[in-house]
Amino acid sequence: MTPYERSKIILRFADLLEKHSDEIAALETWDNGKPHEQAAKAEIPMLIRLFRYYAGWADKIHGLTVPADGNYHVQTLHEPIGVAGQIIPWNFPLLMFAWKVGPALACGNTIVLKSAEQTPLSALYVSKLFHEAGLPPGVLNVISGFGPTAGAALASHMDVDKLAFTGSTETGKIVLQMAAKSNLKPVTLELGGKSPFIVCGDADIDKAVELAHFALFFNQGQCCCAGSRTYVHESIYDEFLEKAKARAMRRVVGDPFRKGVEQGPQIDSEQFEKILRYIRSGVESGATLESGGERFGSKGYYIQPTVFSNVQDDMLIAKDEIFGPVQSILKFKDLDEVIRRANTTRYGLAAGVFTQNIDTANTLTRALRAGTVWINCFDVFDAAIPFGGYKMSGQGREKGIYSLNNYLQVKAVVTSLKKPAW
Ligand code: NAD
Repeated sequence: MTPYERSKIILRFADLLEKHSDEIAALETWDNGKPHEQAAKAEIPMLIRLFRYYAGWADKIHGLTVPADGNYHVQTLHEPIGVAGQIIPWNFPLLMFAWKVGPALACGNTIVLKSAEQTPLSALYVSKLFHEAGLPPGVLNVISGFGPTAGAALASHMDVDKLAFTGSTETGKIVLQMAAKSNLKPVTLELGGKSPFIVCGDADIDKAVELAHFALFFNQGQCCCAGSRTYVHESIYDEFLEKAKARAMRRVVGDPFRKGVEQGPQIDSEQFEKILRYIRSGVESGATLESGGERFGSKGYYIQPTVFSNVQDDMLIAKDEIFGPVQSILKFKDLDEVIRRANTTRYGLAAGVFTQNIDTANTLTRALRAGTVWINCFDVFDAAIPFGGYKMSGQGREKGIYSLNNYLQVKAVVTSLKKPAW
């Protein structure tokens, strides 16, 4: 198929997503428990935008002419890598689908994608829309299944040419080994995080409080880049803490289909129990429980928005990815100290910086070992902005121009010339 044909199919698919956005948002909420308003107003528009972005790339992928020594004409062909195996998680089922499928199709590959066992519905539904948009049978294959069976089959398959994975660091290590032990397929990994959110003494406090709240509690705290270590300068710590606590207590928890609800249930009993264990560990290790700390209500996997203060770096709640609505607030004195502490983690996915001083912002931007640094903002996910992790947060980048290389092979073609090239 020509690149232009591919582009038109992806654009038609984006139009169909727009047309069916109500059903799609409802499916995301049924499957995942996320507030319907969040799915409908934030995620589905982003999903549509992502596919239109990648439709734009399909006919702009091309190689180079290379000025090599000798009498040769040298060019590079950017070819599709082949069959892309893709394994996605449950926290943003369709956005993760788009981050994987968009670039793979734009580059002309075929795909076998495994959705997460907790959230299989929306990927199945939209793959039907892809068919309606004109994608030939066999190009996009969506399968539902469990990790150690269906996921492992993909990671270790000899005919899968590339693997893209998003999920936990533990599983990332397993699939990387499987890829190495089978056919050495290249692997991109989007893994966990423990992202610092640094609020300097000169920050706009009200804005920082609101965005720190959003950075942690968005999507029930189930974000790989959640700002889960809120470092606040000692000069504004008390005021920040009072406001952060008040904001968490105002957070509306409940039926995700009800208008105005900000927080639905956690994904399943396993995550629910795990988060409550981390809350207990926070209390036991001496952090101060400022708000929440328990199950919300008596039915479903709802957890009260929880805020801890006096958190120390060596506490489990400051080190592990909790993946739940638990905010940890830590105090710092100076820039060198907060840089050192922010970087003392096995993760390196993202960081937030709040300051009015450009020198402070520049110093932090360069010193933080994270794939994304948001300054006076957080969770900005434009389709063109690359996303990925340092250290154990992953390998490679998704979104933006960088994501295309994950799905291309570069072939050098060297042709002997009859007459000297130079
Ligand atoms: P997970 O890593 O177990 O699952 C992610 C995906 O990998 C799912 O599709 C799953 O079926 C698959 N999988 C699981 N085991 C596999 C195996 N052996 N081989 C191949 N595929 C396998 O993550 P989870 O259990 O759903 O969540 C646990 C933790 O993962 C969370 O607490 C959180 O820390 C992290 N997580 C991170 C992200 C992220 O976006 N980075 C998303 C979801 C979960």
